[in-house]
Amino acid sequence: MNMDDSVELARLLRGFGLSEAPAADEADLIHINTCSVRKKAEEKFFSFLGIQSIRKRKTGAPVIGVGGCTAELIDIAVGHPEVDYVIGSRRPADYADRIRATVAARFPELTEIRESFHAAPPEGPVSSFQTVIRGCTNFCTYCVVPRARGAEASVPPEVAAREAEVRIAEGAREIILLGQDVLAYGEDLNPRLHLLDVLRAVHNLPGLRRLRFVTSHPRRINEDFLRGLAELPKVCEHFHIPFQSGDDEVLKQMNRGYTRADYIDKIRLIREYFPDASITADVIVGFPGETEAQFENTVRLVEEIQPDQLYTFKYSTRPGTRAAEWEDDVPRAEKEARLARLIDLENVISRAANRSLIGTEQEVMVNHRVNGARFRGRTRSNKITDFKSDRELELGEIVTVKISGATPHALQGERL
Ligand code: SAH
Ligand code: SF4
Repeated sequence: MNMDDSVELARLLRGFGLSEAPAADEADLIHINTCSVRKKAEEKFFSFLGIQSIRKRKTGAPVIGVGGCTAELIDIAVGHPEVDYVIGSRRPADYADRIRATVAARFPELTEIRESFHAAPPEGPVSSFQTVIRGCTNFCTYCVVPRARGAEASVPPEVAAREAEVRIAEGAREIILLGQDVLAYGEDLNPRLHLLDVLRAVHNLPGLRRLRFVTSHPRRINEDFLRGLAELPKVCEHFHIPFQSGDDEVLKQMNRGYTRADYIDKIRLIREYFPDASITADVIVGFPGETEAQFENTVRLVEEIQPDQLYTFKYSTRPGTRAAEWEDDVPRAEKEARLARLIDLENVISRAANRSLIGTEQEVMVNHRVNGARFRGRTRSNKITDFKSDRELELGEIVTVKISGATPHALQGERL
């Protein structure tokens, strides 16, 4: 979501007459788009801000803007006089006036060349994120998102379609619809809609080749949804469905709204409808009170589900959450040991899952030229694929690749 907001910010700033600097240290303006989901992200922000503040005291540059979740949770202006403007976690365009005022005051020469910059061809990524629902009120007890981003707000399908057209005009061939709980899409709209409605609104736009969505909450996966997806051929077979823990007691304390058995059922259902689907997930280790035995249940769930990728996190106390009232009692070394165990297990699973694709032919969308005849792209199941091609390829082109090698995080092959 932050990447999507950053692209929107870049679009906004280009419209004001600015262009991208080759490196942060050379920029006249830096907008820092913060994340506060874990403490580490916040620490990185303050350390980066510190470095840029020193440069500013020495040279007068850059103009510093801050936005995103940390700006919602902490009053950045206090104690940071070097920050020129602060915006919150709504979409950047909502704060356009504030940013424009700062830019106009600091770079008065820009008003004259603005028109010519407008004429510059817009350029965006081939694979573009697009937020369709902001906010979350699921209140998982460890999570700061409900506090930082507030209640759900869906973008109506017709607006989402227009925004997708802008992305396609900027070069996008794949769009990834985003929401913290993307399957909650439309519940706040009147009349009430579903994620399928916005997927359908974007699906047939000319120029679009692939469509994805993320993140799915296990609770909201059902047969109607899977049946609907099966009718949309551009939607790729990849589901990111965090389970967070494999232990029922921990899941309850996390307020996730499902049991281990429910989760397994949902994965089974997905694989019934989409046998080639890849499943990826998030998991937290060291939640307050998590015992060795409870962690073992998580290990067993991973063994049972065999996810294609796993994003593993050490529990981090976030201010204002329910879990912050409980003691963060799993020692750091123990959290690290649990994390290492899951990562080792996942490497074995991911390698086996990827190796099983050796010899198959995969549809790959090119998203990067490595060099000369070497390209990188992703399969429909979202696996990174490095391959050779004896002819020139365009970014966004879909080619067939014969898979000849596999590592835990990527496939290798040759274009047929
Ligand atoms: N909306 C998504 C999660 C967004 S946050 C969902 O419901 O799945 C991305 C991931 O960060 C979460 O899935 C969780 O695994 C992790 N995370 C969130 N809060 C955390 C915390 N306090 N400590 C450690 N990991 C956390
Ligand atoms: Fe956070 Fe839970 Fe909402 Fe995801 S579903 S954003 S983890 S509160």
